[in-house]
Amino acid sequence: MCDAKTRAAGAAACPDCAAPDSGGAGEPTGDTVPRIGPNSIFRMGDALRAQIGAEAAARLFAAAGLTHHWEHPPESMVPAADVTALHKALRAHLDTPTMVAVSRRAGEATGDYLLARRIPKPAQVVLKMLPPVPAARILIQAMGKHAWTFAGAGRFEGEAGRPTRLVIEGGPIQAAMPEAGYPLCDYYTATFERLFRVLVARRATAREVACQAAGARACTFEITW
Ligand SMILES: [Zn+2]
Repeated sequence: MCDAKTRAAGAAACPDCAAPDSGGAGEPTGDTVPRIGPNSIFRMGDALRAQIGAEAAARLFAAAGLTHHWEHPPESMVPAADVTALHKALRAHLDTPTMVAVSRRAGEATGDYLLARRIPKPAQVVLKMLPPVPAARILIQAMGKHAWTFAGAGRFEGEAGRPTRLVIEGGPIQAAMPEAGYPLCDYYTATFERLFRVLVARRATAREVACQAAGARACTFEITW
């Protein structure tokens, strides 16, 4: 969600895009490992620390085989499989209410980060002035251009309307427990809700109405206001 100028400034300016400069969302880059923005790891780390304490959080990162990310929170893109491994370990060790609370906290922080650093302020002013549905349409286009930063190798699409629907197919979170039988992607729900509340409609509420972990073809998020 950064602009081209930021990307051109390179890794230091834009950690989300610091990966292989693919030139387009989800394009192969020569690096065959699907990658994803670092927020999806270190925001979960911050939320875990706040929710269960640093020691317990460090143990869970170790259980996921991700001690390196705990000791050195990533500043550039990471393998999308790391996100899956982290969520898998957390689901194995945390009860559902704690997992939901951590995911939501991390998702909201990611939304705040995108608002502060990746969505240009002039664009935010325009979005806030537009009626909600046209604003949602523009926001979805912007998200789609940088979908690999939050969806990894997953396919992202969206349709503005009432309700607005956002879809991630093959995302890294549902892959943590593909047969859970209930929706897992609270992190995305919280990120989307935060973005839509600030930029589209103050009363926006997001809900994951279908999840691949519950047998759906794709994870679908409905945003209403
Ligand atoms: Zn899902």
